[in-house]
Amino acid sequence: MPVSEYMALCLGHPRYGYYTSRDPIGAAGDFTTSPEVSQMFGEMIGLWLASVWCAAGRPGGVRLVELGPGRGTLMSDALRAAGPFGLPQAAELWFVETSPVLRAAQGERHPSAQWAERLEDVPGGPMLLVANEFVDALPIRQFIASPEGWRERMIGLRDGHLAWGLSPVLEGGPTAPAGTWTERSQAAEALADEINRRLQSGIGAALLIDYGYTAPRPAGWTLQALRAHAPTDPLERPGEADLTWLVDFAALARRFGELEVQLSDQGAFLAALGIGTRAQQLASAAPAHADNVADALERLTAANRMGTLFKALAVRSADLAPTPGFAVLETAPT
Ligand code: SAH
Repeated sequence: MPVSEYMALCLGHPRYGYYTSRDPIGAAGDFTTSPEVSQMFGEMIGLWLASVWCAAGRPGGVRLVELGPGRGTLMSDALRAAGPFGLPQAAELWFVETSPVLRAAQGERHPSAQWAERLEDVPGGPMLLVANEFVDALPIRQFIASPEGWRERMIGLRDGHLAWGLSPVLEGGPTAPAGTWTERSQAAEALADEINRRLQSGIGAALLIDYGYTAPRPAGWTLQALRAHAPTDPLERPGEADLTWLVDFAALARRFGELEVQLSDQGAFLAALGIGTRAQQLASAAPAHADNVADALERLTAANRMGTLFKALAVRSADLAPTPGFAVLETAPT
């Protein structure tokens, strides 16, 4: 089977799927995400959401959508930060989540939320969308150029064990030196198309934050498996390890076509939104926790931590000004 089918089964099988059957997030789980590192992450996103909503004229009934909300932590922190602006009262909260385990965790924190299986099922209208570490869980296909042409990387059985293989040569495709690799997520492309469609027909914006790259491209295929906070073989214990890839943000940005896209490293994005000031505030409010706050700030923003490995991408409807948090590349008029 193609890698995409393997990923979809491992992560989403109704009974044995990784996300279907457990809450994998946190110290006792397999990986820790930014909202679980510190409340400051969700708070900065709350300020971003409130700012975009105010710039949009504070539309009532705005769909506040989160894709893959995990434990609902990001949204709790974001709504608290956005509270003084009036966004929580005006918004209709929608979670796109397939895992029943995580839906239950989200419901405890957000009793008024509504759930959808896919973004397509969320009603239209003004929309503010956010997703952290969602795109990297969508299935990818992997291709490699061989001397005879392009082949797809496959997974099958050899002597009763899962093993890697290659498909027969595929028709077409650009000519490329042998060994050239590429990854493609049709699910991520479909998601971008759906966001695009909604922002073409209604006011709003979307913020996608994920583990990924723009340039240079990584040296090889990016599929990885994580179990108990350590890398593991993706073919070992299917459904018991998290499977992710590094999102190609340059390709994702191109998919939005005519809409304007803003891109940044996570560290610079959070800094521009004021995470440094917030850290000082929290540290002086509770000096006993000052070290924890400093650690969290460093983990979320430092270049050798999550600061550059993670990227933020914003896309907005044509009638909106650029969203906050992204460095302006043009020189300001003097
Ligand atoms: N955003 C959260 C959780 C990230 S983990 C955080 O930052 O902590 C990925 C999340 O996406 C989980 O909630 C998982 O159940 C959900 N998810 C993964 N694949 C999905 C899919 N295809 N459709 C909907 N939700 C999915």
